[in-house]
Amino acid sequence: MITRAEIVDWLHEDDPVRLAELWRRADDVRRRVMGDEVQLRGLVEVSNHCVRRCTYCGIRAGAPVTRYRMSPLEIFECAMQATALGYGTVVLQAGEDPGLELDIVSETIRAIRKRTELAITLSLGERSGAELAAWRQAGADRYLLRFETSNRELYERIHPARADEPSDRIAMLGRLRALGYEIGGGVMVGLPGQTRDDLADDVEMFARLDLDMIGVGPYLPHPATPLAGEARPDWDSELMTYRMVALARLACPGANIPGTTALATVNRADGRELALARGANVLMPNLTPTRYREHYEIYPDKACLRETAPVCDGCLRGRLQTIGRTVGSGRGDARRTAVGEP
Ligand code: SAH
Repeated sequence: MITRAEIVDWLHEDDPVRLAELWRRADDVRRRVMGDEVQLRGLVEVSNHCVRRCTYCGIRAGAPVTRYRMSPLEIFECAMQATALGYGTVVLQAGEDPGLELDIVSETIRAIRKRTELAITLSLGERSGAELAAWRQAGADRYLLRFETSNRELYERIHPARADEPSDRIAMLGRLRALGYEIGGGVMVGLPGQTRDDLADDVEMFARLDLDMIGVGPYLPHPATPLAGEARPDWDSELMTYRMVALARLACPGANIPGTTALATVNRADGRELALARGANVLMPNLTPTRYREHYEIYPDKACLRETAPVCDGCLRGRLQTIGRTVGSGRGDARRTAVGEP
């Protein structure tokens, strides 16, 4: 297993020749443990209503965006499209939206479960224990909840708690695990005040939580948010994100790790391809109906905003072909069996 000292060293490493060694190690572990298949997960941004005021996020409560919430039928149709395109997973993501009521979400999950073989991933923010249990019961398989940073003080600055309860995403990941979900966490890279030591803590946290999925992306300031005016660390957050992807792979060999849309946004030419060459094994094509997509504006100028699902699909498959990777079949669960040293 990779040590704390090694993690910190790699986070400081700037020499491209040495970094090539990190990329090679991460790519070797990825190939040995996960194979050459890239899993495609269809992402459906089901609602941009949100009750929270995260200071980084463009759809925070009160932000000047046009709000939408997809109907269960619209969500179901996107899931059917995921199946038609050959994907093994559909991811339902949203702001923290109480309007996505327990029963509505349960029924949507049941409908997808009944009519498809898809693994169902939820990413609906911090919801009650009763909701999480009911959705698991209805057939949801996985839950994505990034903890954003393991630095508690920074977390509280960027992710204010609701009046009624403290926000502890790490504790919630434990509860999700106990309910039988596969669990996904992750962080943003380049937040104001974030340090390399924080990032090293994040990598150690990935391993401690034994995450099944790890999403890492560069922080992208949104001008309509309080955090946008604050100074960011002096590092290159795209390059730092690749370091984090590679270190996540070394710390958690069997996890599913995506090349994120935020990376595609900072490097449209080949951000995702570089992530896939440096430890990642998943892509998340956007299946949100194009009329809603522009309103899920968590950060500005998001990549792949206007392409329809079949166009996105064709583009991604073409990109995979050029880097010699194949499209995965099946649900693409994490590899939770012991996998040996990287
Ligand atoms: N409401 C859900 C989904 C949020 S969007 C939840 O809170 O879990 C999914 C992820 O997008 C967030 O967890 C965050 O890591 C990322 N994100 C949000 N705003 C961002 C920004 N301005 N720049 C980069 N990533 C951002």
